Amino acid sequence: MIHSSSCTLCFHSTLIPNNFSSQLKTKHPSLVKKRFTQSSTWLLASTQTAANPMTRVPRNPNLAKLEAGYLFPEIAKRKSAYLEKHPTANIISLGIGDTTQPIPAHVAQKMAEKALALATPEGYSGYGPDLGDPELRKKISERLYGGKVDIEEIFVSDGAKCDIGRLQMMFGSGVDIAVQDPSYPVYVDSAVIVGQTGTKNGSFYENICYMTCLPENNFFPQLDKVARADIIFFCSPNNPTGAAATREQLEKLVQFAKKNGSIIVYDAAYAPFIRDENIPQSIFEVEGANEVALECNSFSKYAGFTGVRLGWIVCPKSLQFADGTFVHKDFRRIFTTCFNGASSIAQAGGLAVLDDEGMQQVRRLTDYYLENARILSHAMQNLGLRVFGGENSPYVWVQFPGRSSWEIFEELLEMAQLVTVPGSGFGPGGESFLRLSAFASREHCLEAKNRLESMFGK
Ligand code: PLP
Repeated sequence: MIHSSSCTLCFHSTLIPNNFSSQLKTKHPSLVKKRFTQSSTWLLASTQTAANPMTRVPRNPNLAKLEAGYLFPEIAKRKSAYLEKHPTANIISLGIGDTTQPIPAHVAQKMAEKALALATPEGYSGYGPDLGDPELRKKISERLYGGKVDIEEIFVSDGAKCDIGRLQMMFGSGVDIAVQDPSYPVYVDSAVIVGQTGTKNGSFYENICYMTCLPENNFFPQLDKVARADIIFFCSPNNPTGAAATREQLEKLVQFAKKNGSIIVYDAAYAPFIRDENIPQSIFEVEGANEVALECNSFSKYAGFTGVRLGWIVCPKSLQFADGTFVHKDFRRIFTTCFNGASSIAQAGGLAVLDDEGMQQVRRLTDYYLENARILSHAMQNLGLRVFGGENSPYVWVQFPGRSSWEIFEELLEMAQLVTVPGSGFGPGGESFLRLSAFASREHCLEAKNRLESMFGK
């Protein structure tokens, strides 16, 4: 009531002369209605309340299905709340899987040279080729796939997370997905956002197949008990469990996808941590995978590019949808519509990562984090806990039987000022586990070990 009367007052007294509306009404009734609505809306905005929204745009109902917050912002919120109460606390973060060690100097040098060249007429370049610098795509194929992947099948991007979003946009709302449980939350959240799921019942979204990955099944799904899904998200080495699938396991996965006519989205973001020869670095090491799989990967964990942003997708030309059309064609359409090419500076850096010196540095960096993982893993084992991962992977997965993950998270924060990640944030299968990330400094890992020992009285 108040709104409409103040609107009318405003309409007549300040915006236009008193007699103008009646003149206009006789000549152009629809125009009067439109103009009146506009001025009303303008005034309403200044007296906005939650019960009286600013716009008439319906909210995407899929976003309403999502949980209150993405896992990492929730952890950051709890960490800030702790720091507010204890401003001098010396918190060590073993939480978010962000790299901490500097980018190799010669890689940074190549990026700097590229950046400076952009300031010269000869060195300037604008948009690059749609799918990335051909030289980089060739290098990715040669260095990381032994030349077995055609460069036409490589899409250079701004990172694996963005690629997962673009893949989901391509698949659309008409498919159903399967995920390892627990898993990297982006697979499930992006599925919810594009409308592939129903609502959440307890810990599970309707229409997602959760493939349980627990110590009992060596963190590999029991495929004979798993329902068919159109798309299978599979991450190895796994975030968060640290489990790395063996060749035999991946062969079973590919056979399973073939039998069911599914597509595997294989996330190999942690491939450079693999040291065991029986663990493939790519799904394409498995015979026949090019008929049923796509692979996403990233320079983030190879060389500390989490902030630089560079990744790639391998989409085999042979991969087809049910109607016989090629996935490559549709992905190219989505990719070039939603993305304008990876940064030329980042791509110059990517090329340097893949040269001889760069590959040595990748080894050095990943060895450093693997040693951190070993320290954290031993620290937890010494406390009598069951510990998984940490080999061929930067993640250590610790089991606290019968306890809630968030409860242990809070306990470690309160008592040892350690930030970890509660396993339940990765799906119901992560309950009673904590994930420790080895992407910390050596000093912090050793200090974390000391704190854990004194906390548990060892
Ligand atoms: N995939 C997995 C399994 C991850 O854990 C992460 C990041 O932590 C990503 C993808 C995202 O990688 P990027 O930095 O390339 O977006």
